[in-house]
Amino acid sequence: MRLRMKFRHRAIVMSVAGALTVVYLFLSYTGFMPKMFSSHKDKLKEFMDKNPLSFSFKRWKLNEGQCRADFSVPKDVTTTQDLADRTDFNTYTNGLYNLPHAQLKDAAYGPSLKPLNVIIVPHSHLDPGWLETVDEYYNRKVKFILDHMVRKLHLYPDMTFIWAEIIFLHRWWGSQSKLIQEQFHELIKSGRLEIVSGGWVMPDEASTHYTTVIDQLMEGHQWVYETFGVKPTSSWSIDPFGHSGTMPYLWKQSGMSNMVIGRIHQGTKGRMAMEKSLEFYWKQFWSKSESDDILCHVMPYMLYSLHHTCGPDKFICAMFDFRKIPGEPEFSVIQPITDKNIVNKAKELYEQYRLKSSLFTHGTIFVPLGDDFRYDHIEEWDQQYENYKKLMKYMNSKPEWKINMKFGTITDYFNEMKQAVKSSSFPMQELSGDFFPYSDHDKAYWTGYFSTRPFDKRFCREVETRLRASEILHSIALAYSRFWKIDYKFLQRAPRLLKEARDNLGIFLHHDAITGTSKAYVVEDYEEKLLVAFDNAIQVLGSAAQFLLTKGKLDNIPSIFEPELTRASFKQASMHQKITPTKEGTRLVLYNPTSHLRSEFVEVIVDSVQFQIKDSKRKDIPFQINPVFTSSTEVDRNVFEIVFLSEILAFGIETYTFQIINRTPNSFWSKIVIYNTQELIIAPELKFEQEKPRHRGYLNEAIFIENGQIAAEFKSISGLMTKWLDKTNNKTRETKIELEFKQYTSRGSGAYIFLPTGPATDMLEGLPVVRVVEGPFCTEVQAVYVNLYHRVRLYHHPGVQGRQLLIQNALDMFVLNMRDREPIMRLETGVRNEIGNFFTDENGYQFIGRKRHSAHEQFQSIDRNYYPVTTMAFIEDGKTRVTLHTGQAHGAASLEEGWLEFMIERQLLYDDERGLGEGISDNKLTMTKYMLTVEHYDTRDFEDKFTFPSMQANILNEFLNNPILKLYTPINSEIVSPNFVPLKQPLPCDIFIVAMKSLYKSDLAYNGTSLVIHRKGYKCGYPTQGLQCPNDEVNIADLLPDVSNNDVKETSLTHLATKQSNIDLRNLQVPPMELKSYVITTGRK
Ligand SMILES: [Zn+2]
Repeated sequence: MRLRMKFRHRAIVMSVAGALTVVYLFLSYTGFMPKMFSSHKDKLKEFMDKNPLSFSFKRWKLNEGQCRADFSVPKDVTTTQDLADRTDFNTYTNGLYNLPHAQLKDAAYGPSLKPLNVIIVPHSHLDPGWLETVDEYYNRKVKFILDHMVRKLHLYPDMTFIWAEIIFLHRWWGSQSKLIQEQFHELIKSGRLEIVSGGWVMPDEASTHYTTVIDQLMEGHQWVYETFGVKPTSSWSIDPFGHSGTMPYLWKQSGMSNMVIGRIHQGTKGRMAMEKSLEFYWKQFWSKSESDDILCHVMPYMLYSLHHTCGPDKFICAMFDFRKIPGEPEFSVIQPITDKNIVNKAKELYEQYRLKSSLFTHGTIFVPLGDDFRYDHIEEWDQQYENYKKLMKYMNSKPEWKINMKFGTITDYFNEMKQAVKSSSFPMQELSGDFFPYSDHDKAYWTGYFSTRPFDKRFCREVETRLRASEILHSIALAYSRFWKIDYKFLQRAPRLLKEARDNLGIFLHHDAITGTSKAYVVEDYEEKLLVAFDNAIQVLGSAAQFLLTKGKLDNIPSIFEPELTRASFKQASMHQKITPTKEGTRLVLYNPTSHLRSEFVEVIVDSVQFQIKDSKRKDIPFQINPVFTSSTEVDRNVFEIVFLSEILAFGIETYTFQIINRTPNSFWSKIVIYNTQELIIAPELKFEQEKPRHRGYLNEAIFIENGQIAAEFKSISGLMTKWLDKTNNKTRETKIELEFKQYTSRGSGAYIFLPTGPATDMLEGLPVVRVVEGPFCTEVQAVYVNLYHRVRLYHHPGVQGRQLLIQNALDMFVLNMRDREPIMRLETGVRNEIGNFFTDENGYQFIGRKRHSAHEQFQSIDRNYYPVTTMAFIEDGKTRVTLHTGQAHGAASLEEGWLEFMIERQLLYDDERGLGEGISDNKLTMTKYMLTVEHYDTRDFEDKFTFPSMQANILNEFLNNPILKLYTPINSEIVSPNFVPLKQPLPCDIFIVAMKSLYKSDLAYNGTSLVIHRKGYKCGYPTQGLQCPNDEVNIADLLPDVSNNDVKETSLTHLATKQSNIDLRNLQVPPMELKSYVITTGRK
């Protein structure tokens, strides 16, 4: 038997006023209804007739003719996918790959030997947390490295050093004497000490979102420029486990023109070496401008450590690491250079350099001289310097070797190689794409870390969202404080709180943090820092909202507004706070952190149902009452979830008052149907509609939920979805979508590596309790398993919110024995995506096509076909696109036609031998969020290399990852305005305000407002109904009402270079897919 729950929307145009057309939609309850629901149906209809919901829409429609971002890949650009197609990935033990070196006799002693420049680049790789915490590393090692560096570079006037991790330099700098600071300045000025990248950390490139990558880069760049006047020109990203195609664009926009990367598949390195493309111009798929390209160098050997940098033979290279510290294992084997051994030693090294240079075309190589946390002992400085000086002197004096060897920085290298390339006839290659997945040796794929510790990946997203939102609202509060000439009291504290939040979030972008690849106790240290950032952001948000809503009339610090979502500790997922309606009225404050109009149903938890909700116009707002369950079958008698419709303009704040009343509230109790149990316990005073529990005999019943746009079918035996129906344009299109939970069993997986025994097997045990909660505003199916709570919610909204299914999972790996298991959520769909093609985002910025690779050996087709996903992945054929949006980073794959899966957790007993030394067994109850959309598109015009989401998908994803933020206060004072509306008109749909934040100098003096805007690419031809944004200019003047045009400058991404002055905030020019960055300098604070 099929259970139907049906709502129809009937649209009636009510009034036309100027450009604004207000459409009222009455939700009515018509159509076929099985007998058993008739009582519910009548009540619902009665309720809706009394409580018409008004959805106000501007009739903005996307003009297909103006569809801005349809690009096609230039045919002559090689992609990393092309490269993969001609690569032999069958790699060998110990990372010994066939790199096409020249024969030694030709490379080092041939008759036509060309001059060779060798630049030795001393460096130390400094992880802000991995086996130890960031503080332990700093105190035990990093501060000594910096102390010694100043001393020794002062002593050795031709020695050089490069420094990447600004988090450490920033910390050290504050405790230095004037003299040391001056010496440091001298080193920078002389060019012997180079700041490379200049970000707060060296970020992971798989799981990070581009907004925060920019944030940590800006944080580093602003400080480096303020302190040293330096604008970094080369990026140094040698340890992240695979490389994204978005980073080169961000580095280039930030003023860097060169970059070095390290870890890409060793097979790919071999192929690139063969094609002489280990150095190439990295192009964006979508960009036709050469100014977006950046010169990239791929380190040819396996690692950045000394053993892997002098040439192909790591045993020879190891002999040229002269660190000799008593007690260390290498102590007895290291042979310093002497007059006796120099002849042989120099020859050995010379040959390695010549072999290395045979992989390049221009006769210049650089040789990194360092490793993790090197140069922490002062002796090492002397040991490396003195021995290399002897080698340089000897080798440079051998005219027949034609070698010139010296110390230098990475930019020295790029400058010299560019000169050499200019005079050579060999053109530089161009390449588009990315370098995932990464493999170092033994056919092991580093695709596990995309999904390791999802608790923290979700935590990071919640912090990102809140920090971005609070930075924006803080900047608006500052601008209005100047405009209104009213003091913003919280200004004393906000900059420090924001700075701490940025720094803590920045640390978490480190390539051993968000990746989940640190020791468990280090993970806790990160989590504590994330919690501080989370709380700080909320404090600033509350205070800014308080200032804007009260025009500074309330001095309460901290603010009177409490966050609705809190984290009790760093080990727990965020929890909704219970809101208590009062006689005086409790205010719920909703803030929209996006530049688009939000008409959305929102939820809050309340402890009574005898109240009314009044919006900012004092209109009585109807609400739906949903049950909160205390067990799988028992409804809480004191706590409820309520759902009501909110509408908030761009960056606006709306308040809703929850006031206890004596009369019947304007509310509707939802209906509960429970399956696979005989029990449903509801206290008699609760007025939920209910059916007799459906036990035996109902196992094969289909559960059907629908709104006016879409519908979905579920199996009552599992509570899992089986089908999607699209009902728009007066036709019904059905798409098979069977959602399943499975698990892989590890045969060698660890924090980094994914290595399953074979295909995924069933994960769910037993018959779940399945609950259906139905109401006028939303309907949902909840499946309660022993180890998993899975819920799918459909909103009865005529706009974009009604175009998707919201999926939430809570997974506990400890309830059942899930050791060495890697659970996945898989969609088996009817989409005929050819040969497993699918698309994943790269850091949320752009989308790249993935092609399924065949196996090296049995089962290897699983782990090597996993890719990182930050915000969404989709599969498509010529007609249908199925997109899974995500609220946290995961690994994803499409292993068979029509399949799309996300790995949602990992519990692993064993270490995977990449240095961590432990497995992953600190799993926590993890709550994750997704949206599912299905879109139909009737042509076969689709790309396989890159594409764009639809505009609807972009907007939904933006809303998922930037939810409406909720605060509340028991104080219902007239002083608190009902709303704050800074922008009357939303920005175009494709515009995303990446950041708007107040910049502060080291002494926390205000240094202007930073504004970064992204115009997103989107694919035309998909449905656009429900989109509520105009298609005209980007006008944000009202957000900053105290600013005149001549205070606005367009700059490089991190504001180190000015591009144009006198920019008009009423009409910002942002081309499709590009980022634009501005600094607004007016104001006294
Ligand atoms: Zn590292």
